[in-house]
Amino acid sequence: MTKKQSPIKNILSKGKPVIKLLETLINYGEYMGLYESQRLCDFFGIYRVVRIELTNRCNLRCLMCPRTGIEGSNAGDIDFDFFKGIIDNIARFVDSRTIIRLYGVGEPLMYPRLSDAIEYTKTKCPHSLIQIATNGTLLDEECSKMLIRLLDRTDWLLLSINAGSKNTYRWLAGADRYDLVVNNIKNFLSIRKKLGRGLKPGVDIQILETKKTEPEIKEFKEFWKPLIGLNDNISVWSVINWGGKIDRDDFHVRHTGDRYPCLRLWTTICIDKDGNVYPCGAGLASGKNNELFLGNLHEKSFMDFHLQKAKLREMHLEGRWDYNPICSACDMWTHCPNIWIKNNGRFNFHIPDNLPPVFMYP
Ligand code: SF4
Ligand code: SF4
Repeated sequence: MTKKQSPIKNILSKGKPVIKLLETLINYGEYMGLYESQRLCDFFGIYRVVRIELTNRCNLRCLMCPRTGIEGSNAGDIDFDFFKGIIDNIARFVDSRTIIRLYGVGEPLMYPRLSDAIEYTKTKCPHSLIQIATNGTLLDEECSKMLIRLLDRTDWLLLSINAGSKNTYRWLAGADRYDLVVNNIKNFLSIRKKLGRGLKPGVDIQILETKKTEPEIKEFKEFWKPLIGLNDNISVWSVINWGGKIDRDDFHVRHTGDRYPCLRLWTTICIDKDGNVYPCGAGLASGKNNELFLGNLHEKSFMDFHLQKAKLREMHLEGRWDYNPICSACDMWTHCPNIWIKNNGRFNFHIPDNLPPVFMYP
Protein backbone atom coordinates (compact mmCIF):
# COMPACT_ATOMS: atom_id res chain seq x y z
CA MET A 1 0.00 0.00 0.00
CA THR A 2 1.52 3.35 -0.93
CA LYS A 3 1.64 6.11 1.67
CA LYS A 4 -0.76 8.97 0.93
CA GLN A 5 1.06 12.32 0.30
CA SER A 6 -0.05 15.32 2.37
CA PRO A 7 -2.09 17.91 0.39
CA ILE A 8 0.61 20.60 0.89
CA LYS A 9 3.42 18.36 -0.36
CA ASN A 10 1.18 17.39 -3.22
CA ILE A 11 0.74 21.03 -4.29
CA LEU A 12 4.46 21.73 -3.93
CA SER A 13 5.43 18.70 -5.95
CA LYS A 14 3.03 19.70 -8.71
CA GLY A 15 4.40 23.20 -8.56
CA LYS A 16 8.02 22.04 -8.84
CA PRO A 17 8.53 23.13 -12.46
CA VAL A 18 7.10 26.56 -11.58
CA ILE A 19 9.41 26.86 -8.56
CA LYS A 20 12.35 25.75 -10.69
CA LEU A 21 11.47 28.38 -13.28
CA LEU A 22 11.22 31.06 -10.56
CA GLU A 23 14.59 29.97 -9.13
CA THR A 24 16.14 30.16 -12.57
CA LEU A 25 14.74 33.64 -13.11
CA ILE A 26 16.01 34.81 -9.70
CA ASN A 27 19.44 33.32 -10.39
CA TYR A 28 19.44 34.93 -13.81
CA GLY A 29 18.53 38.29 -12.22
CA GLU A 30 21.39 37.92 -9.75
CA TYR A 31 23.70 36.82 -12.52
CA MET A 32 22.76 39.87 -14.59
CA GLY A 33 23.37 42.10 -11.56
CA LEU A 34 26.81 40.62 -11.04
CA TYR A 35 27.42 40.77 -14.76
CA GLU A 36 26.53 44.48 -14.78
CA SER A 37 28.80 45.08 -11.82
CA GLN A 38 31.57 43.14 -13.53
CA ARG A 39 31.08 45.17 -16.72
CA LEU A 40 31.83 48.28 -14.70
CA CYS A 41 34.92 46.60 -13.22
CA ASP A 42 36.02 45.80 -16.74
CA PHE A 43 35.53 49.41 -17.74
CA PHE A 44 37.74 50.67 -14.92
CA GLY A 45 40.15 47.74 -14.96
CA ILE A 46 40.64 45.70 -11.80
CA TYR A 47 42.32 48.55 -10.00
CA ARG A 48 42.06 52.04 -11.44
CA VAL A 49 43.29 53.71 -8.26
CA VAL A 50 45.80 52.04 -5.94
CA ARG A 51 46.55 54.06 -2.85
CA ILE A 52 49.55 53.06 -0.77
CA GLU A 53 50.26 54.78 2.53
CA LEU A 54 53.99 55.46 2.82
CA THR A 55 53.63 57.00 6.24
CA ASN A 56 50.83 58.03 8.56
CA ARG A 57 53.02 60.62 10.26
CA CYS A 58 52.40 64.28 9.60
CA ASN A 59 53.79 67.61 10.71
CA LEU A 60 50.41 69.39 10.65
CA ARG A 61 47.16 68.91 12.54
CA CYS A 62 44.46 69.88 10.09
CA LEU A 63 40.87 70.29 11.21
CA MET A 64 39.55 68.33 8.25
CA CYS A 65 41.99 65.43 8.54
CA PRO A 66 40.80 62.01 9.72
CA ARG A 67 44.21 61.26 11.26
CA THR A 68 44.01 64.16 13.69
CA GLY A 69 42.91 62.55 16.93
CA ILE A 70 43.67 58.94 15.92
CA GLU A 71 47.43 59.14 15.73
CA GLY A 72 49.61 57.92 18.54
CA SER A 73 51.21 54.57 19.13
CA ASN A 74 50.68 53.38 15.57
CA ALA A 75 52.33 56.35 13.84
CA GLY A 76 55.11 55.27 11.50
CA ASP A 77 56.32 54.42 8.01
CA ILE A 78 55.85 51.53 5.65
CA ASP A 79 58.71 49.04 5.57
CA PHE A 80 60.46 49.63 2.24
CA ASP A 81 60.86 45.93 1.39
CA PHE A 82 57.18 45.43 2.11
CA PHE A 83 56.40 48.39 -0.16
CA LYS A 84 58.45 46.76 -2.92
CA GLY A 85 56.48 43.56 -2.45
CA ILE A 86 53.20 45.46 -2.90
CA ILE A 87 54.45 47.07 -6.10
CA ASP A 88 55.70 43.68 -7.39
CA ASN A 89 52.24 42.27 -6.74
CA ILE A 90 50.16 45.02 -8.26
CA ALA A 91 52.40 45.32 -11.32
CA ARG A 92 50.42 42.59 -13.10
CA PHE A 93 47.06 44.22 -12.39
CA VAL A 94 47.84 47.77 -13.47
CA ASP A 95 48.20 49.52 -16.81
CA SER A 96 48.34 53.00 -18.29
CA ARG A 97 44.88 53.77 -16.89
CA THR A 98 45.96 53.08 -13.32
CA ILE A 99 46.79 55.81 -10.85
CA ILE A 100 49.14 54.83 -8.07
CA ARG A 101 48.74 57.21 -5.16
CA LEU A 102 51.79 57.24 -2.94
CA TYR A 103 50.02 58.61 0.11
CA GLY A 104 47.43 57.60 2.67
CA VAL A 105 46.57 59.69 5.70
CA GLY A 106 49.93 61.30 6.43
CA GLU A 107 52.50 63.52 4.78
CA PRO A 108 54.39 61.50 2.12
CA LEU A 109 57.34 63.90 1.97
CA MET A 110 58.17 62.74 5.52
CA TYR A 111 58.85 59.23 4.23
CA PRO A 112 62.65 58.88 4.22
CA ARG A 113 62.67 56.60 1.17
CA LEU A 114 60.23 58.57 -0.98
CA SER A 115 62.64 58.84 -3.93
CA ASP A 116 63.31 55.07 -3.78
CA ALA A 117 59.57 54.41 -3.63
CA ILE A 118 58.94 56.54 -6.72
CA GLU A 119 61.85 54.98 -8.62
CA TYR A 120 60.73 51.46 -7.77
CA THR A 121 57.13 52.19 -8.80
CA LYS A 122 58.35 53.71 -12.07
CA THR A 123 60.48 50.65 -12.82
CA LYS A 124 57.79 48.07 -12.10
CA CYS A 125 54.68 49.95 -13.26
CA PRO A 126 56.15 52.17 -15.99
CA HIS A 127 52.83 52.92 -17.69
CA SER A 128 50.83 53.92 -14.62
CA LEU A 129 50.44 57.45 -13.32
CA ILE A 130 51.79 58.44 -9.93
CA GLN A 131 50.02 60.94 -7.71
CA ILE A 132 51.48 62.44 -4.56
CA ALA A 133 49.46 64.72 -2.30
CA THR A 134 51.51 66.93 -0.01
CA ASN A 135 50.98 69.83 2.35
CA GLY A 136 54.08 71.45 0.80
CA THR A 137 55.83 72.28 4.08
CA LEU A 138 58.81 70.04 3.21
CA LEU A 139 58.93 70.88 -0.48
CA ASP A 140 62.37 72.49 -0.34
CA GLU A 141 64.76 72.85 -3.26
CA GLU A 142 66.27 69.39 -2.93
CA CYS A 143 62.89 67.69 -2.67
CA SER A 144 61.54 69.75 -5.59
CA LYS A 145 64.45 68.71 -7.81
CA MET A 146 64.01 65.07 -6.85
CA LEU A 147 60.28 65.12 -7.70
CA ILE A 148 60.85 66.94 -10.98
CA ARG A 149 63.59 64.48 -11.93
CA LEU A 150 61.65 61.32 -11.07
CA LEU A 151 58.08 62.14 -11.98
CA ASP A 152 56.74 62.34 -15.53
CA ARG A 153 54.51 64.71 -17.37
CA THR A 154 51.48 62.52 -16.73
CA ASP A 155 52.16 62.29 -12.98
CA TRP A 156 50.59 64.69 -10.51
CA LEU A 157 51.68 66.56 -7.45
CA LEU A 158 48.64 67.62 -5.45
CA LEU A 159 49.55 70.68 -3.42
CA SER A 160 47.11 71.11 -0.57
CA ILE A 161 47.42 74.68 0.61
CA ASN A 162 43.73 74.62 1.49
CA ALA A 163 43.55 78.26 2.57
CA GLY A 164 44.06 81.66 0.96
CA SER A 165 45.49 83.63 3.88
CA LYS A 166 47.69 83.22 6.94
CA ASN A 167 44.67 83.41 9.23
CA THR A 168 42.57 80.76 7.60
CA TYR A 169 45.67 78.58 7.11
CA ARG A 170 46.41 78.73 10.84
CA TRP A 171 42.78 77.89 11.59
CA LEU A 172 42.74 74.89 9.22
CA ALA A 173 46.27 73.50 9.57
CA GLY A 174 46.94 74.37 13.20
CA ALA A 175 50.31 75.97 12.35
CA ASP A 176 51.77 79.22 11.03
CA ARG A 177 53.25 77.87 7.82
CA TYR A 178 51.27 79.68 5.14
CA ASP A 179 54.20 81.78 3.90
CA LEU A 180 56.54 78.79 3.95
CA VAL A 181 54.15 76.69 1.88
CA VAL A 182 53.41 79.45 -0.64
CA ASN A 183 57.14 80.12 -1.08
CA ASN A 184 57.94 76.42 -1.41
CA ILE A 185 55.34 76.02 -4.14
CA LYS A 186 56.47 79.16 -5.99
CA ASN A 187 60.05 77.86 -5.86
CA PHE A 188 58.98 74.45 -7.08
CA LEU A 189 57.21 76.03 -10.05
CA SER A 190 60.19 78.19 -10.92
CA ILE A 191 62.65 75.27 -10.61
CA ARG A 192 60.39 73.20 -12.84
CA LYS A 193 60.34 76.01 -15.38
CA LYS A 194 64.12 76.51 -15.23
CA LEU A 195 64.85 72.83 -15.66
CA GLY A 196 62.69 73.01 -18.79
CA ARG A 197 61.60 69.40 -18.65
CA GLY A 198 58.21 69.91 -20.22
CA LEU A 199 56.58 71.20 -17.02
CA LYS A 200 56.53 67.82 -15.37
CA PRO A 201 55.00 66.70 -13.10
CA GLY A 202 51.59 68.38 -13.41
CA VAL A 203 50.49 70.24 -10.31
CA ASP A 204 47.08 70.70 -8.80
CA ILE A 205 47.01 73.59 -6.36
CA GLN A 206 44.15 73.12 -3.97
CA ILE A 207 42.01 75.28 -1.73
CA LEU A 208 39.16 74.08 0.44
CA GLU A 209 35.73 75.60 0.27
CA THR A 210 34.66 76.29 3.84
CA LYS A 211 32.65 79.13 5.32
CA LYS A 212 35.91 80.92 6.25
CA THR A 213 37.92 80.26 3.08
CA GLU A 214 35.13 80.90 0.60
CA PRO A 215 35.77 84.67 0.37
CA GLU A 216 39.44 83.92 -0.48
CA ILE A 217 38.87 81.57 -3.40
CA LYS A 218 38.73 84.17 -6.18
CA GLU A 219 41.94 85.83 -5.06
CA PHE A 220 43.60 82.44 -4.57
CA LYS A 221 42.89 81.55 -8.19
CA GLU A 222 44.07 84.92 -9.47
CA PHE A 223 47.29 84.60 -7.49
CA TRP A 224 48.24 81.14 -8.76
CA LYS A 225 46.95 81.30 -12.33
CA PRO A 226 49.87 83.27 -13.83
CA LEU A 227 52.38 80.98 -12.08
CA ILE A 228 51.17 77.61 -13.33
CA GLY A 229 51.48 75.86 -16.70
CA LEU A 230 48.80 75.03 -19.23
CA ASN A 231 48.40 71.45 -18.01
CA ASP A 232 48.32 72.38 -14.33
CA ASN A 233 45.23 72.90 -12.30
CA ILE A 234 43.81 75.00 -9.49
CA SER A 235 41.02 73.20 -7.73
CA VAL A 236 38.48 74.01 -5.10
CA TRP A 237 37.45 71.12 -2.86
CA SER A 238 34.69 70.88 -0.36
CA VAL A 239 35.60 69.07 2.84
CA ILE A 240 34.82 65.37 2.84
CA ASN A 241 33.64 63.79 6.06
CA TRP A 242 35.69 60.55 5.86
CA GLY A 243 32.83 58.24 6.72
CA GLY A 244 31.31 60.61 9.28
CA LYS A 245 34.55 61.34 11.14
CA ILE A 246 34.60 65.04 10.31
CA ASP A 247 31.53 67.01 11.20
CA ARG A 248 31.77 70.77 11.72
CA ASP A 249 29.33 73.58 11.20
CA ASP A 250 31.94 75.78 9.54
CA PHE A 251 32.48 73.24 6.73
CA HIS A 252 30.00 73.12 3.89
CA VAL A 253 27.60 70.30 3.36
CA ARG A 254 28.39 69.16 -0.12
CA HIS A 255 25.40 67.25 -1.30
CA THR A 256 21.77 67.15 -0.38
CA GLY A 257 20.40 65.24 -3.36
CA ASP A 258 19.51 61.58 -3.65
CA ARG A 259 22.25 59.15 -2.87
CA TYR A 260 23.80 56.83 -5.45
CA PRO A 261 26.44 54.05 -5.27
CA CYS A 262 30.00 55.02 -4.45
CA LEU A 263 32.18 54.51 -7.51
CA ARG A 264 35.24 53.86 -5.35
CA LEU A 265 33.99 50.33 -4.85
CA TRP A 266 34.73 49.79 -8.55
CA THR A 267 37.83 51.92 -8.91
CA THR A 268 39.92 51.95 -5.78
CA ILE A 269 41.95 49.98 -3.31
CA CYS A 270 43.77 51.51 -0.34
CA ILE A 271 46.61 49.91 1.59
CA ASP A 272 47.82 51.33 4.87
CA LYS A 273 51.43 51.24 6.01
CA ASP A 274 50.84 47.92 7.83
CA GLY A 275 49.35 46.19 4.78
CA ASN A 276 45.71 46.49 5.84
CA VAL A 277 43.47 46.84 2.80
CA TYR A 278 40.29 48.90 2.35
CA PRO A 279 38.14 49.90 -0.61
CA CYS A 280 38.44 53.61 0.11
CA GLY A 281 40.17 56.31 2.14
CA ALA A 282 37.28 56.45 4.61
CA GLY A 283 37.84 52.78 5.39
CA LEU A 284 41.59 53.32 5.71
CA ALA A 285 41.05 56.24 8.06
CA SER A 286 38.66 54.16 10.19
CA GLY A 287 41.01 51.28 10.93
CA LYS A 288 40.45 47.56 11.13
CA ASN A 289 37.31 47.37 13.27
CA ASN A 290 34.87 48.02 10.49
CA GLU A 291 33.24 46.16 7.64
CA LEU A 292 35.31 47.99 5.07
CA PHE A 293 38.44 46.25 6.30
CA LEU A 294 39.10 43.67 3.59
CA GLY A 295 42.06 41.91 5.21
CA ASN A 296 45.81 42.14 5.33
CA LEU A 297 48.19 41.80 2.42
CA HIS A 298 50.36 39.43 4.45
CA GLU A 299 47.47 36.93 4.38
CA LYS A 300 45.49 37.55 1.20
CA SER A 301 46.09 38.36 -2.45
CA PHE A 302 44.97 41.31 -4.54
CA MET A 303 42.55 39.07 -6.40
CA ASP A 304 40.97 38.06 -3.05
CA PHE A 305 40.34 41.73 -2.25
CA HIS A 306 38.88 42.36 -5.66
CA LEU A 307 36.42 39.48 -5.22
CA GLN A 308 35.64 40.48 -1.64
CA LYS A 309 34.66 43.93 -2.83
CA ALA A 310 31.90 42.36 -4.95
CA LYS A 311 29.78 42.01 -1.79
CA LEU A 312 30.17 45.70 -0.97
CA ARG A 313 29.35 46.65 -4.57
CA GLU A 314 26.21 44.58 -4.44
CA MET A 315 25.05 46.42 -1.28
CA HIS A 316 25.48 49.75 -3.03
CA LEU A 317 23.76 48.58 -6.22
CA GLU A 318 20.77 47.69 -4.06
CA GLY A 319 20.94 51.06 -2.28
CA ARG A 320 21.79 49.36 1.03
CA TRP A 321 24.66 51.63 2.11
CA ASP A 322 23.21 51.53 5.63
CA TYR A 323 24.64 48.04 6.02
CA ASN A 324 27.66 49.60 7.72
CA PRO A 325 27.90 52.81 9.76
CA ILE A 326 30.85 54.23 7.81
CA CYS A 327 29.23 54.04 4.38
CA SER A 328 25.99 55.16 5.94
CA ALA A 329 27.49 58.36 7.40
CA CYS A 330 29.93 59.00 4.55
CA ASP A 331 29.64 61.81 2.02
CA MET A 332 32.64 60.85 -0.12
CA TRP A 333 30.42 59.21 -2.75
CA THR A 334 29.40 62.75 -3.75
CA HIS A 335 32.88 63.35 -5.15
CA CYS A 336 32.42 60.52 -7.63
CA PRO A 337 30.30 61.21 -10.69
CA ASN A 338 26.70 60.08 -10.77
CA ILE A 339 26.61 57.53 -13.57
CA TRP A 340 23.60 55.73 -12.15
CA ILE A 341 20.07 55.06 -13.26
CA LYS A 342 17.68 53.59 -10.69
CA ASN A 343 15.42 50.89 -11.96
CA ASN A 344 13.05 48.86 -9.74
CA GLY A 345 15.05 49.69 -6.63
CA ARG A 346 18.37 48.73 -8.19
CA PHE A 347 21.08 50.89 -9.72
CA ASN A 348 22.38 50.34 -13.24
CA PHE A 349 25.04 52.49 -14.81
CA HIS A 350 25.50 54.49 -17.92
CA ILE A 351 28.97 55.85 -18.63
CA PRO A 352 28.65 59.34 -20.08
CA ASP A 353 31.03 60.56 -22.79
CA ASN A 354 32.22 63.35 -20.50
CA LEU A 355 33.07 61.19 -17.47
CA PRO A 356 35.47 63.23 -15.29
CA PRO A 357 38.94 61.72 -14.99
CA VAL A 358 39.30 59.30 -12.11
CA PHE A 359 42.21 61.28 -10.68
CA MET A 360 39.74 63.89 -9.57
CA TYR A 361 38.10 61.52 -7.06
CA PRO A 362 39.64 62.00 -3.62
S1 SF4 B 1 48.60 67.80 6.01
FE1 SF4 B 1 47.27 66.19 5.25
S2 SF4 B 1 47.78 64.38 6.47
FE2 SF4 B 1 48.64 66.15 7.54
S3 SF4 B 1 47.12 66.72 9.04
FE3 SF4 B 1 46.76 67.96 7.20
S4 SF4 B 1 45.25 66.82 5.97
FE4 SF4 B 1 46.12 65.41 7.52
S1 SF4 C 1 30.57 55.71 0.68
FE1 SF4 C 1 32.42 56.34 1.81
S2 SF4 C 1 32.81 54.63 3.18
FE2 SF4 C 1 31.43 53.86 1.60
S3 SF4 C 1 32.76 53.01 -0.01
FE3 SF4 C 1 32.38 55.15 -0.55
S4 SF4 C 1 34.07 56.31 0.32
FE4 SF4 C 1 34.02 54.31 1.32
